[in-house]
Amino acid sequence: MNLIQPILAVLREAADLTSRIQNDFITPATWEKKDKSPVTVGDLAVQALVAARLEETCPEIPLIAEESADLLLSEDGERFLAILLQYLEKYLPGITAEKIVGWISRGKNDDSLKGAPCFWTLDPIDGTKGFLRKEQYATALALVENGEVMYGFLGLPNLTWQKETHDFSMEKNEAGKPSGSLLYAKRGEGTWISTLDGSDFERLRVSDHADPKDASVLRSVESGHTNLSQMDILCQQIGVTGVVAMDSQAKYAVLAAGKSDLLFRLISSKMPDYKEKIWDQAAGSIIVEEAGGRITDLDGRNLDFSLGSMLLDNRGICASNGELHELALEAILDIHA
Ligand code: AMP
Ligand code: MG
Repeated sequence: MNLIQPILAVLREAADLTSRIQNDFITPATWEKKDKSPVTVGDLAVQALVAARLEETCPEIPLIAEESADLLLSEDGERFLAILLQYLEKYLPGITAEKIVGWISRGKNDDSLKGAPCFWTLDPIDGTKGFLRKEQYATALALVENGEVMYGFLGLPNLTWQKETHDFSMEKNEAGKPSGSLLYAKRGEGTWISTLDGSDFERLRVSDHADPKDASVLRSVESGHTNLSQMDILCQQIGVTGVVAMDSQAKYAVLAAGKSDLLFRLISSKMPDYKEKIWDQAAGSIIVEEAGGRITDLDGRNLDFSLGSMLLDNRGICASNGELHELALEAILDIHA
């Protein structure tokens, strides 16, 4: 089955949905999850839509996804369901509250699919805090087979690929304008990009910078998702001066396009035992690898996507254009990050 075209179509719909929600609200209806992170109507709406489309396209492949429908079954649930119904009607005519709960629940965020030989993994809105700030966010979807990511897709409504300059701009998604970007990678067949409404995809390639003086580093905007004081020391140690802060797996698109050279997810001192979630890394990792880059954890280990919803056997992330990878890993070892 050709998966690429139907999944690109789903990501275009998801971008339309999140852009509508982002444009309509000063702050979209938001909840706090048990882990204190925010979840918005956008996260839940996209999970329902993508799960519904995956069920139509490939019903036999299960889904590991970030959100759960628990919140919709709580006291405040009805208010959110009413908003979700209003937004989803455009794509899923005749949709009901029960169907929304069913589709969101199709995505498992526990370890009930641990050991599945083949599954999708979805982050409906990666970088929810960026989404709320009206900055960068991504819809990230990947297909994992026997622990290896085989396909990765990223929809980036607020990071516009400019065909003329082969560079990104932060132009917001506006109706009728070619904007945003849509990326996919297939194992062995490269990483490709177009605007969200485009059909002419071009191949991406990481930078060839081998001298850290020419390089820049990508990091999270949220200080709690990394370790900023260690990041400073690490950059000094490597000899890079440029640091770009950006939310979500949009960072992996920037790295894959050769617009930056290194990416670190260091361990926050507030959460020393934090384990990366597979939906935060799967799509981005193949996007980088198929553009010629490299991704490991901070100890240089390959990412193991076969252990359920988390990268239990890995610690943080180090991604690069390949050229600077060993230098970065040595510096990480030196500073005991
Ligand atoms: P970013 O936009 O790069 O900061 O990444 C956003 C993702 O970071 C969210 O989807 C969360 O799942 C994840 N996250 C939450 N807490 C942490 C943490 N302590 N360390 C690393 N990542 C985290
Ligand atoms: Mg995420």
